[in-house]
Amino acid sequence: MSSRRDEMLKEMGLAPVWRLREPDSRSSFDELRTNGQHERAIAGERLPVRPERNAAESKDEPAAVAAQASAVPAPGDDRRATIMRMDWPALKEAVAQCRACGLHARRTNTVFGVGDENADWMFIGEAPGADEDLKGEPFVGQAGRLLDSMLAAIDLKRGQNVYILNILKCRPPGNRNPEPEEALKCDPFLQRQIDLVRPKLIVALGRVAVVNLLGRDTSIASLRGKVLDYKGIPLIVTYHPAYLLRSLTEKAKAWEDLCFAVRTMQALQSGAAAST
Ligand code: URA
Repeated sequence: MSSRRDEMLKEMGLAPVWRLREPDSRSSFDELRTNGQHERAIAGERLPVRPERNAAESKDEPAAVAAQASAVPAPGDDRRATIMRMDWPALKEAVAQCRACGLHARRTNTVFGVGDENADWMFIGEAPGADEDLKGEPFVGQAGRLLDSMLAAIDLKRGQNVYILNILKCRPPGNRNPEPEEALKCDPFLQRQIDLVRPKLIVALGRVAVVNLLGRDTSIASLRGKVLDYKGIPLIVTYHPAYLLRSLTEKAKAWEDLCFAVRTMQALQSGAAAST
């Protein structure tokens, strides 16, 4: 264990108990195979979820609301089709100029996304907060510092093989949850970013990201430890860093989720290597 990782785990409130396990003799691919998750993910199947909410999570990470699950774009949406053809410069400009919902009126900056545009890893959060609105970059406040620590704990770094973005590109007032209409208007931007990066693995941070990506209002607790599918891209879930700042118990679970993410990525990488 490097002292850097120890430092990061300490900042996450997890040291000295939590450690990234060394790969065991069984390959992570085998591990996913054993529980059937690998094949189901590769087959693009959404793994079954239980509809009930985790009580503590509902209290502390409320209102990702069922209504958002219906934020599905209508067929024949020209704006969407136009966005889906954009390259990076056009997309960045379109986001910077966007006035599709009321959030544009109060923003300082749009918050596009940051990182390696060819990254294997993609982390998707909810929406910019005050710090992000000021700086125009996702996860630069307190939650962002925790996210950076989480990344460092698994030997990742913002900008290096990692792309970070949000469901929304503009800050909702008072950091309220995104309205379904806002998420709907932002969705083509998010889709296009995912298409352009084409990550090997998406990590959905928190309930709002999960609801908007999977289109279902389901608790994080019921989805943890599974390889889900987002349009053919493996997706795993964990708690939002802002929520983790308030809950030590869930921090430990988030560390488990990160270890699971690492094993999943190793499996995906070895699978890709085997098929080439
Ligand atoms: N929370 C998010 O979900 N995204 C950010 O960029 C900052 C805080």
